[in-house]
Amino acid sequence: MGAERSRQAELAERLAATRSRIGAACAAAGRDPAEVTLIAVTKTYPASDVLALAGLGLTDFGENRDQEAGPKAAAVADGLAGTGGQPVSWHFIGQLQSNKAHSVARYARFVHSVDRIRLVRHLGAAALAVPGLGAFGPALTCLVQVSLDGDPDRGGAPASRVRDVAEAIEAEPGLALGGLMAVAPAGADPGHAFAALRPLSAEIRSVNPAAGIISAGMSGDLEAAIASGATHLRIGTALLGNRSVPVR
Ligand SMILES: *Cc1c(COP(=O)(O)O)cnc(C)c1O
Repeated sequence: MGAERSRQAELAERLAATRSRIGAACAAAGRDPAEVTLIAVTKTYPASDVLALAGLGLTDFGENRDQEAGPKAAAVADGLAGTGGQPVSWHFIGQLQSNKAHSVARYARFVHSVDRIRLVRHLGAAALAVPGLGAFGPALTCLVQVSLDGDPDRGGAPASRVRDVAEAIEAEPGLALGGLMAVAPAGADPGHAFAALRPLSAEIRSVNPAAGIISAGMSGDLEAAIASGATHLRIGTALLGNRSVPVR
């Protein structure tokens, strides 16, 4: 119990520090912090940490590997049911193979890493196949991941393909077009790379004006992302600590 209580205290402290960074960055950019959604990226960390952060008021959680995320989402749902806690929303943020689309659609509300039309088709079919989803409109909100460095190994569509992927999402009845996602290129100035986000977001909003999500900003570059209009931050290390196993 003592170890659990001190982990809870550590998470509370890290959350407060992260919120104060977000507040300062919003003040510097003349933005309202209420416009910015904090997604806790819990990869490599246990369901107990998700439950602790949910107890501290977080509602949005991100994972990048289906094999880890599926069981964790189930454990968290059980834990929340046991304590009467509000359900949380899962964001899938990692590179996704088409054959995992059905699995991801069972627990994720958002997929940030949609970068090709073949994957859109699989996610569209998966969203319609999940029992109970889709009854009140699209089940799964998809973001177009754009590559800011042109490196195909890191995922993301080239900027020239963003509109085609957005239109394919928009055409799927089971999917909602949410907006844009990007990861800053390694070793480059994130502020410079993130300058591409606003024009790309405008292009996606020309497909659907409601698709205003800009998912950008991690532990090391959240200030630059907020200055460039990010609406959703994906924060792992700053909230949970350094991961012992490196996970891309
Ligand atoms: C791991 C990961 C993050 C979080 O990174 P931190 O530097 O730990 O904040 C954000 N986005 C993606 C796509 C990730 O894989």
